[in-house]
Amino acid sequence: MFALRIGSIVRIFTTVTALAMGVAVVPRAAAQKPSPPYVAADLWIESNADTLRAVNHRIWSHPEVGLQEHYSSAQLATLLERAGFEVERGVAGMPTAFVASAGQGRPIVGILAEYDALPGVSQAPTPDRRPREENPELDAGHACGHSIFGTASTAAAIATWEGLQSAGLGGTIRLYGTPAEETGVGKVYMVRAGLFSDLDAAFHWHAGDKTRVSYSTCKAVISVKYRFSGLNAHASLSPHQGRSALDAVELMNVGANYLREHLREDARIHYVITEGGGQPNVVPPTAEVWYYLRADVHQDAEHMLERMREIADGATRMTRTTVEERIDADSFELLPNRPLSELLQRHLDRVGPPLFDERERAFARSTQVDLPDAPEEPLFTDVMPLPDRPWHIKASTDVGNVSWQVPTGGINVACYTNGAPGHSWQIVACTGMSIGEKGMIVAARTLAGAALELLADKTLLDDARRDFDARRGSSPVPRSVLPQDQEVPTAIR
Ligand SMILES: [Zn+2]
Repeated sequence: MFALRIGSIVRIFTTVTALAMGVAVVPRAAAQKPSPPYVAADLWIESNADTLRAVNHRIWSHPEVGLQEHYSSAQLATLLERAGFEVERGVAGMPTAFVASAGQGRPIVGILAEYDALPGVSQAPTPDRRPREENPELDAGHACGHSIFGTASTAAAIATWEGLQSAGLGGTIRLYGTPAEETGVGKVYMVRAGLFSDLDAAFHWHAGDKTRVSYSTCKAVISVKYRFSGLNAHASLSPHQGRSALDAVELMNVGANYLREHLREDARIHYVITEGGGQPNVVPPTAEVWYYLRADVHQDAEHMLERMREIADGATRMTRTTVEERIDADSFELLPNRPLSELLQRHLDRVGPPLFDERERAFARSTQVDLPDAPEEPLFTDVMPLPDRPWHIKASTDVGNVSWQVPTGGINVACYTNGAPGHSWQIVACTGMSIGEKGMIVAARTLAGAALELLADKTLLDDARRDFDARRGSSPVPRSVLPQDQEVPTAIR
């Protein structure tokens, strides 16, 4: 059973019974005062919980990395179409991005959905570390929980539409299908295409190990690739005639690693070598390294980019190679919003945390085996209070770019092992079974409730806008380093 309050259970079951019996049985309280719109939203979510779990299961079982989420995005878009949404696919130049709308006129509230998986984290829905066996060629996995993210957001949008209709309210609800979050691509290009420009507010959520409002900011991140070109030659017969692009990559990495000491403490640099040559007896003529440059404020990431350009240039001089820089994505730090966070807190408190059973606690406890510092309680079972000040996430999200366009609020819901790190096998395991799916239902109900209240109350929207304007006015507005004519990447590599 989900975390329904008793009152909701009574209302929902009275209605369900009435519908099943085909008679108009109206609860006595409802006869005097109409139910708030979230009751209809909750009813839709609870009535369709099996379908939602099945959708999550299909997306979870078919993990697709960024920009390849054809199956996953189709699952969600189809669900929305069946519920009466108008869906525009392939927006902003990305085949797996879509925008779905229902309702009419203002206000317009958006809910963000993500559905990309991560490479190299294949995991079965088991409480021990075990790659999936049924489809071993798929090495990706939902280690950030985006299968439940997309499904819950989609459910919230449909439930909001149900609530709007039941209450006879105007306004528009939109679901944004945003691909490739893990590479910070989807929303960056959707914002650039102007898809959020007429929105009044946006909501998002994320699977977490705690349940709380994400009244937070995060790190900005620039995703940049350096592709070096040299000359190939036999590595033993004529090495003097070759120029190694791999040497340039390695020297660039040495320079970047020395740079770390002279950056602000909040800076992060990580890289992978995406191309390093074919085999040892050929001097590699091309090689590529892919960097994420992160900092708490975007201006510092811009400064890091300048330094990295000089280091890349130095590497070309040392190796007589050339280099091309490609900035794929540029995500900003999140701009928090107090009124939207308070609204979400009210609805999260109303819905309550996921209620886990003993079987699920035992499952989660087993997954703590390689987490020596994990909390004693294997699953978090409270709703944390709203903090006075925004907290700081040391990761990044392209929701940041949306948050500088439109007032944005979000939540985290406990969907996996307490204390599990992000992007871990524990997250894949838990989101492929009932632990994550209970969190998914809580997220859907909370977002729908908040969206409906916002659509019905203009003063709330005005408060959110005032807070947005004040924060935007007192912070340095991030300046995107993405070239204006930069085409959308077609793959993550
Ligand atoms: Zn994520």
